Amino acid sequence: MSIVVFAESSDNQFKKSTFEAISYAKEIGQLIGKDVIAVNISGISNGAELGKYGASKVVNCNNTDGFTADATSDLFASICKELGASVVVLSNTYVGKSVSPRVAVALNASMASNVISVPDLSNGFAVKRGVFSGKAFAIVNLNRDIKVLAITPNSFEINSNGSDCPTESINANASPSKISIKAVNKVTGKIPLTEAELVVSAGRGMKGPENWVMIEELATLIGAATACSKPVSDMGWRPHSEHVGQTGITIKPNLYIAIGISGAIQHLAGVSSSKTIVAINKDPEAPFFKSADYGIVGDAFEVLPQLIQALKN
Ligand SMILES: Cc1cc2nc3c(=O)[nH]c(=O)nc-3n(C[C@H](O)[C@H](O)[C@H](O)COP(=O)(O)OP(=O)(O)OC[C@H]3O[C@@H](n4cnc5c(N)ncnc54)[C@H](O)[C@@H]3O)c2cc1C
Repeated sequence: MSIVVFAESSDNQFKKSTFEAISYAKEIGQLIGKDVIAVNISGISNGAELGKYGASKVVNCNNTDGFTADATSDLFASICKELGASVVVLSNTYVGKSVSPRVAVALNASMASNVISVPDLSNGFAVKRGVFSGKAFAIVNLNRDIKVLAITPNSFEINSNGSDCPTESINANASPSKISIKAVNKVTGKIPLTEAELVVSAGRGMKGPENWVMIEELATLIGAATACSKPVSDMGWRPHSEHVGQTGITIKPNLYIAIGISGAIQHLAGVSSSKTIVAINKDPEAPFFKSADYGIVGDAFEVLPQLIQALKN
């Protein structure tokens, strides 16, 4: 029996969320006395570095067919069976969200998504998970023999005290996907929003797409990803991949800077779990100030140039 982690990667590199998932699995391993095995389906040639985060072994499986949720899930579930997984850990990313429920069904397992705590084993196997867009928490007990946990990105510390671990390659191919994907448009060269620790986000208060130069400049200066409110992406000022909120992406960065965004409940649904929120708005009554840790009441067109200059200095 072991704890198996789905090692997710992008552009031939393991994602930060994979390191979080392995560090998290290691904590469970210490509680229940089991080893952590990372399964690397991506085709990255050597996953030995995952040992630093707590994996005692990495199983490499070269899935050259690329990602489709059903084929990847089938393959991962069969490897979990082979490895005798009792706990399966994934990150609750786009990929994790599509793989984890399929794997749970294939393994006849209990499953929890949006997990934000290490299991409490004092009375079963209970985990805390965020519900209602992070507005509330639920404690759920997982009763089946196998447990599948999809953990919220940016919720757990990465522990990199270990060292490289042994790797093993297996020959396994995903069965042909039932779904055919013709094209994938990928945002490249940017910090992925769901992984970003710092996010600079802006709304309709920026007046037009031409003014995003300032948002981009501020984001570049502090190494942040950029995001926006729904109307901004609806109007085509920014790509839909930047839209955060109830109908967009849910994020949990360490710092969320909201510029010229009113703070409607649907927007907050996607960002209110951010560790620190800074709102910049010219209206002192803007709802965002109620949810913000820090607020600047002022015109973004005056505040931003000063902030950018101060950071440059
Ligand atoms: C079913 C449903 C789902 C939705 N899902 C989402 C979602 O996922 N994400 C989302 O964002 N919205 C969503 N919305 C829309 C949401 O209700 C708001 O309409 C939207 O968030 C408002 O965007 P905004 O704050 O950019 O624009 P506005 O509401 O127009 O606010 C602009 C803000 O900028 C400030 N401002 C103006 N000029 C300046 C300046 N010069 N300097 C500083 N501040 C300035 C104003 O004071 C104001 O507070 C949804 C709505 C519905 C009904």
